[in-house]
Amino acid sequence: MTRVTAPDILSRFAAVLLDMNGTLMFSGDRFGPDQDYAATYRTLGGSRLTTEVVQATITACYETLERIYNDPERCDSFPRVLDTLRTLPHAQGLDDGELKLLEDVVAQHERGQVPDPYAVLLRGLARSHPLGLVANILSRKELWLEEFRRAGVLDLFAITVFSSDGSSVKPSRKLFDQAVSALPVPRSGIVFVGDSLRCDIAGAAGAGLATVWIDRARSGRRAGDPQPDFVVQDLLDLVRR
Ligand SMILES: [Mg+2]
Repeated sequence: MTRVTAPDILSRFAAVLLDMNGTLMFSGDRFGPDQDYAATYRTLGGSRLTTEVVQATITACYETLERIYNDPERCDSFPRVLDTLRTLPHAQGLDDGELKLLEDVVAQHERGQVPDPYAVLLRGLARSHPLGLVANILSRKELWLEEFRRAGVLDLFAITVFSSDGSSVKPSRKLFDQAVSALPVPRSGIVFVGDSLRCDIAGAAGAGLATVWIDRARSGRRAGDPQPDFVVQDLLDLVRR
């Protein structure tokens, strides 16, 4: 691992590709036994399904997608939320309107926020480097585009690659190559910044990119983990403050 002061890392590269969740977006992926999916369903205008059916269906949908997400064999055959809902026992017989509502419940619980300090950092970074985003999400991307617009960062990206536009998820090389091909610099001049050793660091390195790992919890690498080129604790560490 190269020892370089964190704020000097990006000056070695001409363009920066960024992961989203845990890198510049936080407080998303609100799934689990403490979540009130039925309340979200009713907020979105749903009224026909019981609390039990909504809770059971969203829980089963998320668990199914999480299992597939963690299966390395499935990184180029990742299913859509709506298609996954259709396969679940509790969702059999539901019409398209109800399935669409449940799909929207998943998206509402999945999306996080871009905090102001990260939006400020991205605005500064975009002045010196072309930026790209390579994000794994389960749901369709509309809510994320909305949040990026709210935070004033959407137009900063030369390319945004959301996994749910297709059937691949990081670490699949396809998503990295899609972003690289949209940037006006050679691959050797691009660095990828992300917080997942498996999805971001292994994926980007496999696509021939330099890597910065965000080790937020300071957990360190274990033997056999993918090897990043640089490590920082937070995206904010990459700029002088
Ligand atoms: Mg991440």
